[in-house]
Amino acid sequence: MIMGSDKYNFDTLKIRAGYNSADHNNSVQVPIYQTAAFDLLSTDRSRRILAFEEFGYIYSRFANPTLTALEARVAALDGAVAAVSVASGMAAVSYALLNACEGGRVIAPIHIYGGTFDAYKKLYPRLGVHIDLIDDVNDLEKIRAAIKDDTQAILIESISNPINVVADIEAIATLAHEYGIPLIVDNTFATPYLLNPIKYGADIVVYSATKALSGHGSVLGGLILEAGTFDWSAGRHPHFTETDYTYGDRNIIEVLPDFPFSGRIRTHYLSLLGASLAPFDAFLILQGVETLSERVKKQTKSAQKIADFLISHPKVSYVSLPSLPGSKYNKLAKKYFPKGAGGIFSFEYNGTEEESNKFIESLKLFSYHTNIGDARSLVINSARITHHELTPDEQTIAGIKPTTIRLSIGLEDVNDLIADLQQAFTIH
Ligand SMILES: *Cc1c(COP(=O)(O)O)cnc(C)c1O
Repeated sequence: MIMGSDKYNFDTLKIRAGYNSADHNNSVQVPIYQTAAFDLLSTDRSRRILAFEEFGYIYSRFANPTLTALEARVAALDGAVAAVSVASGMAAVSYALLNACEGGRVIAPIHIYGGTFDAYKKLYPRLGVHIDLIDDVNDLEKIRAAIKDDTQAILIESISNPINVVADIEAIATLAHEYGIPLIVDNTFATPYLLNPIKYGADIVVYSATKALSGHGSVLGGLILEAGTFDWSAGRHPHFTETDYTYGDRNIIEVLPDFPFSGRIRTHYLSLLGASLAPFDAFLILQGVETLSERVKKQTKSAQKIADFLISHPKVSYVSLPSLPGSKYNKLAKKYFPKGAGGIFSFEYNGTEEESNKFIESLKLFSYHTNIGDARSLVINSARITHHELTPDEQTIAGIKPTTIRLSIGLEDVNDLIADLQQAFTIH
């Protein structure tokens, strides 16, 4: 089996890693193990599996071979030691955050996915996890000032939704580690093709696989990856050193020393909250991953061309693509996104909200719906849809206006896309 060995480059790993056909009746494709449970064979074997003495499949809520192939493949692409797949990106964010922070605090920037932000307000505080929001992810002194004795994680997006704030992952990770705090990075926008956060010190990486990893708008899924280098026993995470009867009176670090974080997600959050990925959906995500580079490369190139068109258009007052020469994040983008900053960005419609709505409705090729990273080009008015959970004041701090229009560039001919934008600008 080809795992994440240094021998192979990204484009080989995305097609080959994590799967050996000889282990699956020589099936060329990863088989869809459409089963809820697995024969246990003997009472002694079931005892050994449950005692972590040997690995084996029991029930698809915890693990399933189709999911294992997906997990191993994406872990290889990001240089992670282990991964857990879950039923959606929100499940990935929630499980990662809860697993790191039980009864503690997390520091997070306001520039973040609307659903995550909504959970900060409505859900986590009631579950005993407190969120310390900062208004600038790259203001290290603000982060330092927010650190408290019970801070258990920092959660950021490598490039934020929807206005493309590029986080200085290396600087934030260094600061976090100074205090024994893990850095969790939502790398959904970037994908492992454009950025590997673990290389810059991230401890945990999460993905919505619904987006560019699957890439065809056909499936919901998420992944949580573990770098395997963070010391969970250093003091801030007592739940990792608690002994448990089901672990034979050991703690999770003793049971699974190489990947205690993902192991604990399986034994706690996946097992008990149960947002397991369906095997067929894992198969669809694997299909998407096979063409990840080709798709993202083209989308990045087309996005640059479209951004160049938009920035010179009188109906556009701002374009958020960080690779544009005037961008505040140009320098960070050069460091973290040498292959380009992806195919998703926003622009500011220079006019009223009514006019910008008319613009959206006049588009013929760009589809108006709430996904990103699709083969189709998509458009959305973020303030009213993907980030409608933010109050007007929060939206102002987050840099989202009613006339902010987010584009996710697909795989169509770029000249057709530009012509579509052009005609929609001339409607009113
Ligand atoms: C979409 C998205 C999520 C949530 O993922 P779902 O698969 O929709 O649950 C989380 N983070 C980011 C950055 C996203 O874009």
